[in-house]
Amino acid sequence: MKNFTTRSLNIPFLKKDPHNALAMPIYEAVAFEFASAEDIAANFRGEFPAHTYSRTSNPTVEYFESKVKLLTGAHQVLALSSGMSAISATIMAICKQGDNIISGNHLFGHSVALFEQSLSAYGLETRMVDTCKIEEVEPLIDQNTRAIYFETVTNPQLEIADISRLADIANRHGILLIADSTVTPPSVFDSKSLGVHIEVMSTTKFISGGATSVGGLIIDNGLYDWSKNPNCLAFAGKFGKDAFIARLRKNYYRNLGMPMTAHTANYMISGLDILELRVERCFANCMKLGEYFQNNPKVKRVDYPGLKDSAFYPLALKQFGGVPGTVMTFDLESQQECFRFMNRLKIIRRATNLNDNKSLIIHPYSTIYAEFPESERLKMEIRTTMMRLSVGIEGAGDLIEDIEQALGVE
Ligand SMILES: *Cc1c(COP(=O)(O)O)cnc(C)c1O
Repeated sequence: MKNFTTRSLNIPFLKKDPHNALAMPIYEAVAFEFASAEDIAANFRGEFPAHTYSRTSNPTVEYFESKVKLLTGAHQVLALSSGMSAISATIMAICKQGDNIISGNHLFGHSVALFEQSLSAYGLETRMVDTCKIEEVEPLIDQNTRAIYFETVTNPQLEIADISRLADIANRHGILLIADSTVTPPSVFDSKSLGVHIEVMSTTKFISGGATSVGGLIIDNGLYDWSKNPNCLAFAGKFGKDAFIARLRKNYYRNLGMPMTAHTANYMISGLDILELRVERCFANCMKLGEYFQNNPKVKRVDYPGLKDSAFYPLALKQFGGVPGTVMTFDLESQQECFRFMNRLKIIRRATNLNDNKSLIIHPYSTIYAEFPESERLKMEIRTTMMRLSVGIEGAGDLIEDIEQALGVE
């Protein structure tokens, strides 16, 4: 079995279902019983693996994790309450006060806020750099650097860094390469083959099956020697290759209370089964819309790294099989024109999410980035004339018709 969907549909349960159910049941239970006092004591000593309490682990969530693990070929997988909990738990588990990480300078807004506001209060420094300018990354590394962190395709800038070259730098210094791969889901992106050590993602976007629920994933590809990270050294001695997930589970996931719920895991399990289909449809729509925008004189500019004339197309082809997510941007003459256009849309929705089944549009300058001063926004390449379109699974003809009528004169 090679196809993503075939494999997703055929991942076995970890335990046989007593009723031979074809779908994984939703174990909406908090506590799990033990046959004897000896068994429960052995479980607490770590010698008898079993579910005990759903903030620590849950059978439905575990099945989702095992599906992701088998689909990606990862070493270990942890499902969490949100993309932000996946990112925050990962950084906390590898750093202590006084440590730093090198980070891409174009990130999801709440990741910037996490690094610059939440984690900085605990003595963790973030050094921002343009990861597309590979020669600027290495000089920022010192003996307290624990990781290079980046997003596979930034948005709304839609830039792509050369992942293998980032991995080379990380490996040379014995530090981690961490990718936020939210916009390039596992049906198009094999992070392990490019040398990414840890992948974090918001499953809220593509994997949830279309904006059904909030969730996150941490994927450990098993490529990193955990004894190289001073904060994971003790766990590496005890758990070897499992050090990171063991430390995450014990000190962060459990203690900070970040579990995915069984109901959410159920959405994610179904979402994985239809992921590849949805991505293919969204991508086909992106290509048709890209061509339409390129040929419409009212559209001043269109950016999508799946288009052959994009500067990032070669990396999109190499790293994501030519499917660099399904978010695109395009520009009209002015902000006023953008607002007028958005207000006339009938099928494309005005909303801030990504990778819903519905196509979603937003004007980043006046919304997501509104709290930044104008000079900062321009530095981040957030133009007043730009709109971000997260392309959904509607019929391409209907989307183009909607855009055409919204662009038209009154
Ligand atoms: C949405 C998003 C997140 C945060 O995910 P949540 O599930 O909303 O917490 C992180 N990174 C990227 C790139 C995102 O798009």
